[in-house]
Amino acid sequence: MPGKQRQVTEFAARRARLSEELAARKLDAMIVSAGVNIRYLTGFTGSNGLLLVSPGVSMLFTDPRYGTQASQQTDTRVRVVRGALQPALLKTAARRKLRRLGFEPSRVTWSAWSLLNENLPLGAALYPAQGIVEALRMVKSAAEIEAIRRSVQTNSAALERALDSFRTGMTEQALAASIEYQMRLLGAEKPSFETIVASGAHSALPHAGPREAPIGPNCFLLIDMGAFQDGYASDMTRTLFTGVPPPKARSLYRAVLEAQLAAIDAVRPGIPTARVDAAARRVLRRYGYEKAFIHSTGHGLGLEIHEPPRLGRGEKTPLEPGMAITIEPGAYVPGYGGVRIEDTVLVTTTGCEVLTPTSKELVRL
Ligand code: ZN
Ligand code: ZN
Repeated sequence: MPGKQRQVTEFAARRARLSEELAARKLDAMIVSAGVNIRYLTGFTGSNGLLLVSPGVSMLFTDPRYGTQASQQTDTRVRVVRGALQPALLKTAARRKLRRLGFEPSRVTWSAWSLLNENLPLGAALYPAQGIVEALRMVKSAAEIEAIRRSVQTNSAALERALDSFRTGMTEQALAASIEYQMRLLGAEKPSFETIVASGAHSALPHAGPREAPIGPNCFLLIDMGAFQDGYASDMTRTLFTGVPPPKARSLYRAVLEAQLAAIDAVRPGIPTARVDAAARRVLRRYGYEKAFIHSTGHGLGLEIHEPPRLGRGEKTPLEPGMAITIEPGAYVPGYGGVRIEDTVLVTTTGCEVLTPTSKELVRL
């Protein structure tokens, strides 16, 4: 299987890059706890694993439920352990004389950290190594970009199909269920987050959950949705109108759309992400909606729905070709409604490519 062979090589290359980062930090090895980071470095998708990465050798520790799966999915050595994984990993580290051990401070629970700390071999020490794998994950490979493209296509097709059967009076929950059902029919494993369907004044709450409430006529309908396909996330928001939008709704929509287009226009390699955020904010300020924009302009996405870089005020991370990010300004008027427009975008060598194919005209349902 040439596909599998290519993937195996890609995982090994990722571990080699991590090893270089470890050497730069004078660490002998890294204890990787986060499931997504283990998946990124080995291909393993099981729910219980611990990965030891050191230059030249890596070993995945898991429990008997995942023994077969781990050996099929990964190109690393696998050790199947009964009971806690931490003591077994530390025994291997001691045997290989690995002393300076990095761990993921924001990814381990207190009890998991205690298991590491209590079983440390003599002379070994734990060092917090925050975000090393996440930093490697920011720039996507060709295979990852293809997976994100498929996820984005599925997501847009799911919205189109769900809207085909939309009628006023249907509940927000029913529309959210229909969207998620279509996603799965089209090949997604699951939604990449809980689908947001918010109508009327409820759309002014940026992260509103769908309610058991009918979607009425003549109001905004905000839908924020994403799929996971082959492990990779997509993310899109569209705001529609049930009926003929009055001038107030049209002007709010126009302001957000113009801000979104200005932010997309600002995306190019080398600039700090804060500049993209500022481009959106500048437009909303001109329309008098600056204070109505109460979140950041976007985020990276990949194996997780939210990953670095963040596109917000004061964010200095420079954009690089191969980064997959969202552009999603919004404006929210309490008691009236809100508009957010979000695309998934790929940073290219010259600017960016908008991956989301769904139209951004104000749709009248
Ligand atoms: Zn979203
Ligand atoms: Zn988003």
